[in-house]
Amino acid sequence: MPSVYIKTYGCQMNERDSEAVAAQLVAKGYTLAASEYVADVVLLNTCSVRDNAELKAINKMENIAGDIRKHRPNVVLGFLGCMAQSRGQELIDRLPDVDLVVGTQKFHRTADYLDDIFAGRRSKIVDTAEEQGSEGTIREHLVNGNAKVKSVTAFVSIMQGCNQYCTFCIVPYTRGEERSRSIADVVAECRQLVGQGVREITLLGQIVTSYGKRGGFQSGRAELPLGSSIGDAQPRIPTANGTSPFVQLIEAVHEIEGLDRIRFTAPHPKGYGDDLVAAYARLPKLVESAHLPVQSGSDRVLKLMHRGYTRARFLEIIRKLRAARPGIGLTSDIIVGFPGETEADFSETLSLCREVEFDNAYLFKYSPRKDTPAAAMPDQIAGDLIEERHARLLATINAIGKRKYDAFVGRQTQILVEGPSRKNSARMTGRTRCNKIVLFDGAERHRGQLLEVKITRTGSFTLYGDPAIVNL
Ligand code: SAM
Repeated sequence: MPSVYIKTYGCQMNERDSEAVAAQLVAKGYTLAASEYVADVVLLNTCSVRDNAELKAINKMENIAGDIRKHRPNVVLGFLGCMAQSRGQELIDRLPDVDLVVGTQKFHRTADYLDDIFAGRRSKIVDTAEEQGSEGTIREHLVNGNAKVKSVTAFVSIMQGCNQYCTFCIVPYTRGEERSRSIADVVAECRQLVGQGVREITLLGQIVTSYGKRGGFQSGRAELPLGSSIGDAQPRIPTANGTSPFVQLIEAVHEIEGLDRIRFTAPHPKGYGDDLVAAYARLPKLVESAHLPVQSGSDRVLKLMHRGYTRARFLEIIRKLRAARPGIGLTSDIIVGFPGETEADFSETLSLCREVEFDNAYLFKYSPRKDTPAAAMPDQIAGDLIEERHARLLATINAIGKRKYDAFVGRQTQILVEGPSRKNSARMTGRTRCNKIVLFDGAERHRGQLLEVKITRTGSFTLYGDPAIVNL
């Protein structure tokens, strides 16, 4: 059987989609290649959130087509995911060496399409159509499969799409309308993962806090025959005793015996209602970590972005979360240089970061995206000014982060050990409940253990720990 190499760009949702495609291909007998240079099939799973991400994938494919295909003409080349969805046929017109373009609702069709290409039934395939039920098709995992090691953590896709229509964001156009899986379906997948040794689950979606609010379709099958669609409509999940569908889902997953930790990403600050804040206080497996993408500290910019909350409301959520779970780890996403952002607006972002003291924040230089309202707004900010503000904000975030990480030195904390560090396999790595990476001199036997470590020093957004001191 052929071998496949999948390179992923962008967010955790894309990583999860790639994993599911890889698992589907492995189930069909494909092997996973170590690099594009030895693979029979090279798939680039793409991101459209910023122009840079699109350019990277296009340049990569140009290089592969020019280099690898010259020596091995039969290699099959494909684009998957968000850029495949937004550009479709245009990608093959631009790069004629590409054989396959698979959109965001069609990942589960990839194996069938590759079969068609290898059997010579079709040569060029572009599929970016919508498909009812596609939110239930990202379900296969590579847990313990290929790598022959136990996976301790897993991501579970609970929904697809986004209905927020933030004015800067391309996601609603590339990922479609919000569609959620049923609670029973998600819980069954989590239960199976825990049965395979998984101890920590991250519930995944574009805006997880909107889970269940708009219904969707439920798939009961791992693979769908070509041309079929899934007919079982999954209704909207009603609020029960003031509890949103998302909190109901967390409660249901919390019941799973053998599961130690629950995380989720990505939420919307609007979704941190009192029920979710209360869930942090009463559900011990829901770890004390929250990602709240604030995007800007200026009410004027937040309104232009169509974010649906004010600076004051955002700060109130932070206050409530800290009251519910003291020591909660807080991270954020921030866009620098949104159209019309003045020095005064930017100062509000700086002051919000100083006030909240995020443990870390991901900073994005604003990038105009096709068909989004912000791309047509007046007063687009010049690149050099965006660079300058980005550098100032980064320095602020890094200084606050360093202070917060340094405060861990000398403390004892619990980590879940995930495996050897990617950068230095002699070290083991784990995460604190508040989502900080801890490196320590450990051994394979530590994998999957909840271990107490004493933090001895810090690196850049990394803690170094010693389990020997506390686990004698
Ligand atoms: N769930 C997130 C939210 O609440 O908005 C959206 C996830 S988005 C894929 C990841 C981050 O990319 C966003 O939070 C935003 O900071 C950034 N982003 C999205 N569109 C962008 C754009 N046009 N330019 C720069 N950054 C952008």
